[in-house]
Amino acid sequence: MTPNEVVKFAKENDAKFVDFKFLDFVGIWQHFATPISEFSEDIFEEGLGFDGSSIRGWQPIHNSDMLLIPDPTTAKIDPFIEMTTLSLICNIFDPVTREGYTRDPRFIAQKAEAYLKSTGIADTAYFGPEPECFIFDDVRYSSSSNESFYAIDSVEGIWNTGREEFPNLGYKPKNKGGYFPVAPTDSMVDLRNEMMMVLQEVGMVVECGHHEVATGGQCEIDMRFDSLLAMGDHLQWFKYVLKNVAFRNGKTVTFMPKPIYGDNGSGMHCHQSLWKDGKNMFAGDGYGGLSKMAMYYIGGIMKHAKALCAFTNPTTNSYKRLVPGYEAPVNLAYSNRNRSASLRIPVTSNEKAKRVEYRTPDPSANGYLAFAAMLMAGLDGIENKIDPGQPLDKDIYGLSPEELKDIPNVATSLEDALNNLEADHAFLLKGDVFTPDVIEMWVNYKRSAEVDPVRMRPVPEEFALY
Ligand code: GLU
Ligand code: MG
Ligand code: MG
Repeated sequence: MTPNEVVKFAKENDAKFVDFKFLDFVGIWQHFATPISEFSEDIFEEGLGFDGSSIRGWQPIHNSDMLLIPDPTTAKIDPFIEMTTLSLICNIFDPVTREGYTRDPRFIAQKAEAYLKSTGIADTAYFGPEPECFIFDDVRYSSSSNESFYAIDSVEGIWNTGREEFPNLGYKPKNKGGYFPVAPTDSMVDLRNEMMMVLQEVGMVVECGHHEVATGGQCEIDMRFDSLLAMGDHLQWFKYVLKNVAFRNGKTVTFMPKPIYGDNGSGMHCHQSLWKDGKNMFAGDGYGGLSKMAMYYIGGIMKHAKALCAFTNPTTNSYKRLVPGYEAPVNLAYSNRNRSASLRIPVTSNEKAKRVEYRTPDPSANGYLAFAAMLMAGLDGIENKIDPGQPLDKDIYGLSPEELKDIPNVATSLEDALNNLEADHAFLLKGDVFTPDVIEMWVNYKRSAEVDPVRMRPVPEEFALY
């Protein structure tokens, strides 16, 4: 939509408010609203001023005025606000220079797309993330507030006791038993359907929804792939829709990667491919039907994987998922079938569908930053012809320590990922996509607001041990 069309669209729908959404550095939507009487086409030129000092990772208080300029192509009616409300996603600008704000994740995504075009390698990068999540009872409605405790502790243990004072677990899947019996074992059917309906209402193409492997409540809903910035926007809407549909049904959704010890965690496998003039540049006649360019892209991802983890797996909890035995890849290897490899080449005879699936990322990632960082790593691989080595067509989880010793690993903790990012980020700075202040602020913020507070707290397991 053009600005003029957005104004018409608001009128046609009799919108009463306009909701302006933008991202904080970490990737959580922030917003404020104005009555429709304050809204006109001029806003797309003039923008709206606001105080950015309270947004984490942003401007210091003495320099806090920022400018929001809404992107007219993101106009939708927000399905969760009772009075009809036009929703717009905004970019952040410096009000003095009117330049894009370097720590606006959307700006980084836009610069990554521009950099790709400038290289001549391709004109479009497509991303297809598969975010998994857990749906739990919301304590506001739960008749037995103990249930979440059981889920977190050990479903297996409760199952085996058969003691009557526990809730009836008749249809509750055991750990790793959720993939994917029909209802009533799958108790999320109606909720997932409602989520898929609303996702379609806000313009997303939904391909499939299903229960996932972990015990009652782990789900996956897949969206059709799209270009980098558009997919960043879709992922924001996706999380917003899932959380709000769950909330109005007395449930809560979490995208934290590993909420339950001893069961599968939630990944966000990212399918990716590069296209030029309508042609898939990843299709070829090499291994797995891939082109040389795709191989180098894999080489780039593998080379920079540990630093990439700071964006693709950006929470302390991310590393509780990245352990062997739960379908989450720990080793850096590629293969055309193997789901234990971090990079999988899905089998397809369709040229258009040739792509690389990077399985390490998880849904706690800020999509814009994670997609942009992966693209930059892949492009670095192409520009420097980085050879990914031989594929590993074996079940990696079944390999002996001797066989594993030469296979590199992803980062082992958020701290490890941040140290790697500090040491290896020149590939992100090309074309000013990521800027030094972004890397520095990301590392500082993550260390002080996440790594240290978690490290300093005693955890339940320490009471058992000590
Ligand atoms: N939940 C698994 C993960 O953490 C992935 C399961 C699947 O293959 O979809 O990545
Ligand atoms: Mg899955
Ligand atoms: Mg997958």
